Amino acid sequence: MHDFHAQFIDGVWTPSSASERIALVNPATGEAFEWVPDGTPDDAARAVAAARAAFPLWAARPMQDRVALMRAMLERLRAKADDIVRLEVLELGSPEGFARSTHCDYQFARIESYIGIAEKLPLELSYPQSLVLREPLGVVACITPWNYPLGQVVQKVIPAVLMGNAVVLKPSQHTPLTAHLLMEAFAEAGFPKGVVNLVCGRGSVLGEALVRSPDVSMVSFTGSTRVGAALAAEAMRGLKRVSLELGGKSPFVWLEGMPDYEPAARQLLNSVLLNSGQTCTALSRLLVPRAMLPEVEALLLRLLPEYPVGDPRDPAVKVGPLASRAQYDKVRGYIKLGLEEGARLVAGRIPEAEPPRGFFVEPVVFSDVANDMRIAREEIFGPVLSIIPYDDEEEAVRIANDTPYGLNAAVFGPKARALETARRIEAGNVYVNDSPRDIAAPFGGYKASGIGREGGDAGLLEFTQLKAIFEHGSL
Ligand code: NAD
Repeated sequence: MHDFHAQFIDGVWTPSSASERIALVNPATGEAFEWVPDGTPDDAARAVAAARAAFPLWAARPMQDRVALMRAMLERLRAKADDIVRLEVLELGSPEGFARSTHCDYQFARIESYIGIAEKLPLELSYPQSLVLREPLGVVACITPWNYPLGQVVQKVIPAVLMGNAVVLKPSQHTPLTAHLLMEAFAEAGFPKGVVNLVCGRGSVLGEALVRSPDVSMVSFTGSTRVGAALAAEAMRGLKRVSLELGGKSPFVWLEGMPDYEPAARQLLNSVLLNSGQTCTALSRLLVPRAMLPEVEALLLRLLPEYPVGDPRDPAVKVGPLASRAQYDKVRGYIKLGLEEGARLVAGRIPEAEPPRGFFVEPVVFSDVANDMRIAREEIFGPVLSIIPYDDEEEAVRIANDTPYGLNAAVFGPKARALETARRIEAGNVYVNDSPRDIAAPFGGYKASGIGREGGDAGLLEFTQLKAIFEHGSL
């Protein structure tokens, strides 16, 4: 079995210089089951130095070599699928089925998508008077959150490496285990040493050391808006490239005039409840025509039993625990706040102050929520839905856009009107009716939800810089 106590630096699993450890807690039981080193700035410096040294040769490798190695890496990673699923059940409390489909298989599909696009992406563009090259940046620090442990890592490390950069990855200290398996797969595939490196530890120590390092050219961050904004200010001091995937408070706009709303309700509940609501794109504000409020509430109440909460190893369970005690306390605080603010509780209850075993929270639906309540403005990151009534579609669009965020949105209604509404929403992603996501589409936020895009060609180009060469002189 893999030794999670080491860090991957310069192609070798090496002990951290840390004397402290970070315990990993199984959120379904509240018990510690593993630990990782509480990495030091010295670990970060060694990892950056290894990446820096590896960069020139890696950047010079032709794309077909990089692609071939990445394909080999993916094959090695696929062989670890059962371990990835087991670890996401343990470290995140993800129900097994969701861990398999989303935390594991979907990530393989993303890697495949990046490889397929990178292979064909034009990196030299010829203009009448110039040759324009898309070149790698250097060392990219990738800093990721705990909610989709492998997914957030894949969205950064794979495109950065494919485009010829060297990477230092600092995954969340709460859910770092599947990132180790990814590093193992890179090593087994024969990647040159130093191209990918992994350090484990706290953001305030390791993350800051990476952001301050003069040898880091870019910081690609996914996490909270608060940390992202502070980190970007620090990175700017060193004039580093920054990409930020931050929080959200996304609207689901429910329009009148559809014969059947069951697909809408399912789409909404999947978004708000899966991963226990700990999803940056969660459609946690439901905007409903005032006259339809009783009908919509009844429909949601009818479907909620399809989302049983419980032991993530039980195949019938759809909603596992929240990822940590801190998250449990935060979500509990917001549920209490919703009642204090005057929202009407349609489903769920205030969780106990001391969770008996594991950090489980029943789905909560608030109705008659006003968009200026804190439960409608702040990211809760738990299985909590706020239903906000509206009087006409103008008002629906105004409420949808009245948020600091702009990550995701959905509109459900007669196609032409839904599409028109989608165009008016200020968000980086908008789903119309039951449309599935296009894996190669750009993903990212407007406003306080971020800067930059992941996925597809936009996600690959994020990790490049442009060079213009003028080669049309007379000599
Ligand atoms: P967080 O901001 O607390 O931490 C994210 C990462 O940053 C972690 O690795 C952490 O160790 C590190 N970090 C913390 N302080 C740092 C500092 N001062 N310097 C450098 N690094 C630091 O977020 P979280 O609690 O892990 O994740 C939840 C948040 O992530 C939510 O707000 C959610 O919306 C957001 N998120 C956004 C997306 C997206 O794609 N837009 C996706 C998933 C999660």
